[in-house]
Amino acid sequence: MTQLLESTNQTNQTAAVALKCKECGERFPVAATHVCDSCFGPLEVEYDFSHLNADTLKAQIEAGPVNLWRYAPLLPAKPYARSLEGVGFTPLQRAYNLGEQLGLNELYVKNDAVNPTHSFKDRVVAIAVAKAIEFGFDTIACASTGNLAGAVAAAGARAGLKTYVFVPSNIEPGKILAASIYGATIVSIDGTYDDVNRLASQVADEYGWAFVNINMRPFYSEGSRTLAYETAEQLGWRLPDHVVIPIASGSLYTKVTKGFEELIQLKLVKDQALPAISGAQAYGCNPVAAAFAGGLTEIQPVKQPTTIAHSLAIGSPADGYYSLKVAQRTGGTIEQVTDEEILDSVKLLAQTEGIFTEPAGGVTLATLRKLAKLGKIGRDELTVVYITGNGLKTQSAFDGLIPLPQPIAPKLSVFEKWLDQI
Ligand SMILES: *Cc1c(COP(=O)(O)O)cnc(C)c1O
Ligand SMILES: [Zn+2]
Repeated sequence: MTQLLESTNQTNQTAAVALKCKECGERFPVAATHVCDSCFGPLEVEYDFSHLNADTLKAQIEAGPVNLWRYAPLLPAKPYARSLEGVGFTPLQRAYNLGEQLGLNELYVKNDAVNPTHSFKDRVVAIAVAKAIEFGFDTIACASTGNLAGAVAAAGARAGLKTYVFVPSNIEPGKILAASIYGATIVSIDGTYDDVNRLASQVADEYGWAFVNINMRPFYSEGSRTLAYETAEQLGWRLPDHVVIPIASGSLYTKVTKGFEELIQLKLVKDQALPAISGAQAYGCNPVAAAFAGGLTEIQPVKQPTTIAHSLAIGSPADGYYSLKVAQRTGGTIEQVTDEEILDSVKLLAQTEGIFTEPAGGVTLATLRKLAKLGKIGRDELTVVYITGNGLKTQSAFDGLIPLPQPIAPKLSVFEKWLDQI
């Protein structure tokens, strides 16, 4: 508790001035809450950036740490003493080989699979946990489709907080292991992610824990904006023409968009227009893609997701509606791809760019391939595809797919005979 009080006293001002309802616009004080008292709409952090000057800010960012905290002036929380090191500022790899295969001359892979717990979730957790500590919580928790579990567990271990993670029992064993190893208490639920999320919301109300993606969601989701900032900075402070982003709850998708908008407003880039922002889902859990394809404005929940892309399997996405708006507003599209296309794209990314992604990355790349083929992404458009998770946690998804080598005797003659046969 001493440690918590210390960090509370150290709380510096951030640019976050209020929580604002996305529906009715009512403002609330900055606190661990996520729904509007008046209309039940979702709350979003509101900032006062009026004191920021573009040139000074850019210089400050460039002189900052080589991780997501370099964007601290734009974040709703300050880093805390025992934050996990090395979150963010991940490579933006020029994808020469992949681009050649897809007929795209300027393609980049934003490789967020190299964060400390191997997914982009370390970003959102960094912000949520920093804020939870500032608020004085001693317990953090989450409802997870897999990657969030590991990110929260690692951040909890590092910060010395009690940690509970709630997951559907059918996620990859590698992801359960990758959360359990940090000493978190795992609550495995017989049910879908939506069932898990419902239970977790009840627990959040009853127990006063900081659920990073429930009561801390307004702060959590802001962490994804750093992916937009980094992309622009790594491109020499300019925006791409087209980006492809996976959609589970739609938080990442809508907040990367918000990040690009802020870059324009703050004049950190010369561009005036947003990129086309396209979303990616799997057929087996396609609530947003199906609504987009049908020209609907309402999301029909998917009751029983059936896809190997477990980390995207949210049947009732909190930000689904706002995701539809983003696609419409930016001239992007939201596509869906089959499990077969997902696996094929995981292999293609590995074999062209040396990056092993989990099925979610296969969803994103398969969507990019579809858009390139349909001519929805032009040959000379500067395109960025977001790879959000690492394949080593989802090995079970690739069982039987990749032939394993048969051992041979340690003799040159045997080797030569073997080499002739393959
Ligand atoms: C969580 C997750 C996403 C996107 O999640 P949102 O809920 O839409 O923000 C994308 N890829 C991976 C690998 C994830 O774990
Ligand atoms: Zn409201």
